[in-house]
Amino acid sequence: MARVLVVEDDPQLVRALVINLRARGYGVDAAPDGATALRLAAARRPDVVMLDLGLPDMDGVDVITGLRGWTRVPILVLSARQASDEKVAALDAGADDYITKPFSMDELLARLRAAVRRTEEALLDPGTSLVETGDLTIDLLAKKVHRDGGDVRLTPTEWQLLEILVTNPGRLVSQRQLLQEVWGAARSTKTNYLRVYMAQLRRKLETDPAHPRHLITEPGMGYRFEE
Ligand code: CA
Repeated sequence: MARVLVVEDDPQLVRALVINLRARGYGVDAAPDGATALRLAAARRPDVVMLDLGLPDMDGVDVITGLRGWTRVPILVLSARQASDEKVAALDAGADDYITKPFSMDELLARLRAAVRRTEEALLDPGTSLVETGDLTIDLLAKKVHRDGGDVRLTPTEWQLLEILVTNPGRLVSQRQLLQEVWGAARSTKTNYLRVYMAQLRRKLETDPAHPRHLITEPGMGYRFEE
């Protein structure tokens, strides 16, 4: 049974989350503020943390930073904040995913299942190097991509971008993180580089580059690889 730590100061939302999560077999702890969250995370070792950013005692981003000091537990941010720089700050601090309020319970549960699945897969098979989707096979060790049985030639930069996204399946990776890892900190704001290279990757990897299935853009925030 996966354990979820819900960090949220809205008692009605907490109640709804606890009822829905328990009904689906999750163990649930709830913290109404950041200090309780950090204490419960250490004491209960949850498998996933669902975190509201607007907490009464501290900013949710500081909770992320506090957790990331010692754990890689998946953090799913729940927030009413629409501004994309807030979302980017949460992702850069180490959050794994972001869902904007109001959200549907179905979508939240799907994101939660994805987070639990990623953790389980990482634990079960730490050496996995082959990513296979319907039409694509990506061999991370040999650095090769096959599409519909044929080889796809990627430039070193295209490969670097793809590798980061593929090794974080389903997870939103921020523009800044991609730019820093591929081009270096000095170019961490050159989002036009990303647009150009992602368009190239889509032309090579997607059946319909205008409606990508695998390389998904989250406008103003980053990119996500869907298997
Ligand atoms: Ca709140």
